[in-house]
Amino acid sequence: MKQVILRDYVSGFPKESDMYITTASIKLTVPQGSNRVIVKNLYLSCDPYMRHRMAKQLTASYIDSFKPGSVISGCGVAKVLDSGHPNFKKGDIVWGMTGWEEYSLITAPETLFKVQHTDVPLSYYTGILGMPGMTAYAGFHEVCSPKKGDYVFISAASGAVGQLVGQFAKLLGCYVVGSAGSKEKVNLLKNKFGFNEAFNYKEEPDLDATLKRYFPDGIDIYFENVGGKMLDAVLLNIRNHGRIAVCGMISQYNLEEPDGVHNLMDLVKKRVRMEGFLVADYYHLYPKFIEMVLPYIKEGQIVYVEDMAEGLESGPAALIGLFSGRNVGKQVVVVAHE
Ligand code: NDP
Repeated sequence: MKQVILRDYVSGFPKESDMYITTASIKLTVPQGSNRVIVKNLYLSCDPYMRHRMAKQLTASYIDSFKPGSVISGCGVAKVLDSGHPNFKKGDIVWGMTGWEEYSLITAPETLFKVQHTDVPLSYYTGILGMPGMTAYAGFHEVCSPKKGDYVFISAASGAVGQLVGQFAKLLGCYVVGSAGSKEKVNLLKNKFGFNEAFNYKEEPDLDATLKRYFPDGIDIYFENVGGKMLDAVLLNIRNHGRIAVCGMISQYNLEEPDGVHNLMDLVKKRVRMEGFLVADYYHLYPKFIEMVLPYIKEGQIVYVEDMAEGLESGPAALIGLFSGRNVGKQVVVVAHE
């Protein structure tokens, strides 16, 4: 079977050649009572946090590094081929941590979620119904303290997390503006996801002036995905008692030193609450989240855009594409359709 291997620790901007494809053999059965399962990987999720795992230095990270020379891992959707664990049986569809390879031996299957609803695209469990979906839900509803009429700004707004945050905010009756890095993405935000406004930050030389144009009365909630200059401009435009949910800061992930933020004193002056969060702390809300979001998907009130890269070989390019904005929507790698 094919596997994606990390060549060596990465510093700076990751390259496709930081990973390579190799082949290995794997036994497709597990002994009964072994508490292990063997799965066939269907869809793999490309996520920005995986960049932290490629680095040796983990100063800003919260998760172990990948090992050079070993297969990389991430969230994925898979089918159980054989099970030595009482909670799983052959044919079950699961999502959770798996290897970037065609088949994986899962030694701690209790960390997997069993997919209960298969009448939606299974790839959604890498995105809207998986980790990014939970991130959007927890980050917006639990961290931002949103209310109807709030002025909400979202960066990296067309991505896996951002597109959902915007739709949650619209459903609540907020005024929503998103930033993204291309005309195509700006069109999606306005015409597909129903944002009130959107702009291409790459065409805006003065982000402070841009935000003043879209938020003449200031911002109540900033859902932070990028950090750096964008955060700095938001600090100048956030209202008194505003909230900033720090989901991530992708503009910083490939830098040796943090960059671009000078206006932190605005937090004090305006009594702003800026709070980082990790989705891992919120999975107890997963059943509630699924119950809330599934009807919206089925009724078409929430839509989700995915960017499918076909074949495990396309994985490295798809993963590093996150850092140049190549992905349009949730980046998925299709290993097998069933
Ligand atoms: P996306 O699907 O949004 O993909 C990443 C996007 O980030 C790119 O498409 C690109 O969009 C944008 N981007 C890349 N480089 C830069 C840059 N230098 N400056 C500005 N924008 C850039 O990713 P996700 O939705 O999966 O993740 C969004 C954020 O959420 C990330 O910061 C991630 O780390 C974080 N996250 C945090 C979690 C948590 O538990 N706290 C869990 C999951 C995600 P564009 O073309 O618009 O520039």
